[in-house]
Amino acid sequence: MSAQRQLTIVGAGLAGALLATLLARRGWTVDVFERRGDPRIEGYAGGRSINLALAERGLHALRSADAAEAVREHAVMMRGRMVHFLDGGEQLQRYGRDDSEVIWSVSRGELNITLIDAAEAAGARLHFDRRLDAVDFDARIATFLGDGRAHMHRFEALLGADGAGSAVRQQMQQVAPLGERMEWLDHGYKELEIPPAFDGEFRMEPNALHIWPRGRYMCIALPNDERTFTVTLFLPSHDGGRGTPSFESVVSGADARALFARDFADALPLIPDLESDFESHPIGTLATLYLDRWSLGDKAVLLGDAAHAMVPFHGQGMNCAFEDCVSLANHLDATGDRAAAFAAFEAERLPNARAIQQMALENYLEMRERVDDADFLLQRALERALAERHPDRFVPRYAMVTFRRIPYAVAFERGRVQRDLLVEATRGRDSLDGIDWERLDAEVERQLPPLRAE
Ligand SMILES: Cc1cc2nc3c(=O)[nH]c(=O)nc-3n(C[C@H](O)[C@H](O)[C@H](O)COP(=O)(O)OP(=O)(O)OC[C@H]3O[C@@H](n4cnc5c(N)ncnc54)[C@H](O)[C@@H]3O)c2cc1C
Repeated sequence: MSAQRQLTIVGAGLAGALLATLLARRGWTVDVFERRGDPRIEGYAGGRSINLALAERGLHALRSADAAEAVREHAVMMRGRMVHFLDGGEQLQRYGRDDSEVIWSVSRGELNITLIDAAEAAGARLHFDRRLDAVDFDARIATFLGDGRAHMHRFEALLGADGAGSAVRQQMQQVAPLGERMEWLDHGYKELEIPPAFDGEFRMEPNALHIWPRGRYMCIALPNDERTFTVTLFLPSHDGGRGTPSFESVVSGADARALFARDFADALPLIPDLESDFESHPIGTLATLYLDRWSLGDKAVLLGDAAHAMVPFHGQGMNCAFEDCVSLANHLDATGDRAAAFAAFEAERLPNARAIQQMALENYLEMRERVDDADFLLQRALERALAERHPDRFVPRYAMVTFRRIPYAVAFERGRVQRDLLVEATRGRDSLDGIDWERLDAEVERQLPPLRAE
């Protein structure tokens, strides 16, 4: 086997395991080193969100590894947002046109195990309990710690799929600065659980992503196939003097109960272990990671959260990481020049990562403040009407990101044009009566060229 066809992946999380599968299936010799134990033997030691929303980009990548069907078997379909208003009312806001445009709630643990199995079946060599500690890029030797000692591994190239706190990234920066900037969101999250009802069924509508928007904070809940929901409470980290609840003022289980009784009253009876969940679960932190460069010549490249961690409000971090995997595998196959492949991968993906990072930040405002606001609902109504009138030109931004594979940067730019049209056309109105359709149609045709099928 030529040295050119050997690759070493750090991290057997979601991106690392999928990338290993794709590369091994294309004939690469792949070693994967993972800090944790084998989840198939020791159980999945997550630490981050229990379930995730899988969308078309992620599904497409899984299809190319023949893993989509295995994943879909345990996934729960989510057709739209079920908005829970403060007065107890509910409204389902569909995400797409019909059931061909939906997202899927998947368990992080099950998904990771499916991908690890796929990587192994494809011929990748997996090394668990091996934490990357140091890298000598000149000698191309990586040192991993595990079983109480150091393990040296000679590599041709290191692919850093080791998440937001990436050790590969830290090691690369000791050789050449990558222009790292981490922007922390002043909001954190806690996960709680809604168990099944006494008859073993779901306690709320299963085929939806539930949202309780409350201005500067919110709760969401995603279904799991064992008939539970994982609830995530997002709160500001600090009070900031505005009287809004925060993790500074909501500290004990009793505080959490009082908050739910006041602001999430319909959810409260569904979470029997609210106090103990709240007190025993850690507060998760959220950040956006910006880098100017992702690669180091032909020696190393970063992907997934290691390259572009983002806040979770568009449900795209994993989907974007999976797109990275397909892109990197394609670039590596397209040329024997590894440095050129890494550079081409970075040139393709970095602007797209920036775009989805920005859209994820914007979506937080939309989810917590706007989904129950009258202007927003009118703009959504007009958006649906324009999407029907111009199906190949006016595709809602959420749909471009979630149901299509249009590059994120294109979705971002077209989304900006569309938002301006919607805001302008609905200004001062409380219904769509009297809209000048002829003028609006002409603007759509002028500003939004038809989208090509991907
Ligand atoms: C609350 C929350 C909700 C989210 N919801 C969604 C969602 O709905 N949809 C979505 O698409 N995305 C979502 N995301 C984002 C998603 O979780 C990440 O984008 C995704 O996990 C990135 O995958 P990754 O493989 O790059 O990193 P990770 O999943 O973090 O995997 C990194 C792996 O590297 C290993 N590792 C770390 N350090 C080392 C080391 N030194 N040596 C060896 N191994 C190491 C880790 O153990 C881990 O297995 C969410 C994130 C959060 C926090």
